[in-house]
Amino acid sequence: MKGFEHLQTELEEMKDQGTYRELIPLESAQGSRVTIKGKDVIQLSSNNYLGLTSHPRLKQAAEDAVKEYGVGTGSVRTIAGTLSMHEDYERKLAKFKHTEAALVFQSGFTTNQGVLSSMLSDQDVVISDELNHASIIDGIRLTKAARKIYKHVDMESLEEKLKESTEYRTRLVVTDGVFSMDGNIAPLIEIVELAEKYDALIMVDDAHASGVLGENGRGTVNHFGLDGRVHIQVGTLSKAIGVLGGYVATSQTLKEYLIHKGRPFLFSTSHPPAVTAACDAAIDVLLEEPELIQKLWDNTKFFKDGLKELGFNTGISETPVTPVMIGDDALTHKFSDELFNEGVFAQGIVFPTVPKGKGRIRTIVTAEHSKEELQEALNAFERAGKTLGLL
Ligand SMILES: *Cc1c(COP(=O)(O)O)cnc(C)c1O
Repeated sequence: MKGFEHLQTELEEMKDQGTYRELIPLESAQGSRVTIKGKDVIQLSSNNYLGLTSHPRLKQAAEDAVKEYGVGTGSVRTIAGTLSMHEDYERKLAKFKHTEAALVFQSGFTTNQGVLSSMLSDQDVVISDELNHASIIDGIRLTKAARKIYKHVDMESLEEKLKESTEYRTRLVVTDGVFSMDGNIAPLIEIVELAEKYDALIMVDDAHASGVLGENGRGTVNHFGLDGRVHIQVGTLSKAIGVLGGYVATSQTLKEYLIHKGRPFLFSTSHPPAVTAACDAAIDVLLEEPELIQKLWDNTKFFKDGLKELGFNTGISETPVTPVMIGDDALTHKFSDELFNEGVFAQGIVFPTVPKGKGRIRTIVTAEHSKEELQEALNAFERAGKTLGLL
């Protein structure tokens, strides 16, 4: 079809530069082992930290909800699409997070967009870590607020930006709780102290910390003992929680404001009953099966230690997100392909997702992996590393 020529040219350029990506469909359910291209492989690239995508209690809750309430809601939340289960779930989530209120959005992405774009205006300033997630960056792009970017987890740089910001009405410091490409944790205690010193609000995006860090997976704020001192906690229901959606756990005031001004909340249909029911069951699992989080961290330690013993560089990771640093972009993809040959699915991440020359295999172990599977994966890393002369 005509009219797309310049897009086709750009795609060809991407192919020449090696940045063009094919989607890789799974032919099985998500899990510690998956079927890809007809081959049974160990999955190390999902965000399914606790294995909840196929947890029996979540599946049962979803099935029951479909039977009783059907498959869709037929409206946005603000017109006719709020079910009592949506509100029950938000109350449960707020209680779990130890906050006044919680509001669920369609995804983590739209949560960041909705919160940032609605609460800030040209009288305000947003101060953001340079490695924050794309959805934070896009949310900031949608505001008329002044923008300041501080160097990654650099508290001197943050303080400098706060000092320059005293004349604004609201100063909002925003950071990922866990950074998704390196697996490091934001220095939240220092960030909170600085924000309090300069009378700024704090927003933390706990997409990779919900269900992973803190008591029963309450996130980084709880992990650092900072309950009540962080104004806005955003998280996703799509990673460790295993389903779909995003949430903001915050004050009742901001919740009510977002119900009126958060554009994705206002103009996009609410979650189907099966999604909300499964998310609800996920909180019960977090509270009643803490051994899953224990297993996740045991597996993390086992796998990280194994990689280091083999001589791989896992960067600055402190969480189950463990990058294996390779460097060159083409070599990174080659390593990923070699791992696949050896029975392991672990995607390479290269420029522009990470800086040039910082290509890596990003691995995430889950609570579902057995020690045998992780040992098998380590053996594959060793063989692939030797084949490509990396070890
Ligand atoms: C994955 C992610 C999101 C987006 O969450 P979705 O629910 O997948 O839309 C937002 N922020 C961060 C830091 C993430 O890692």
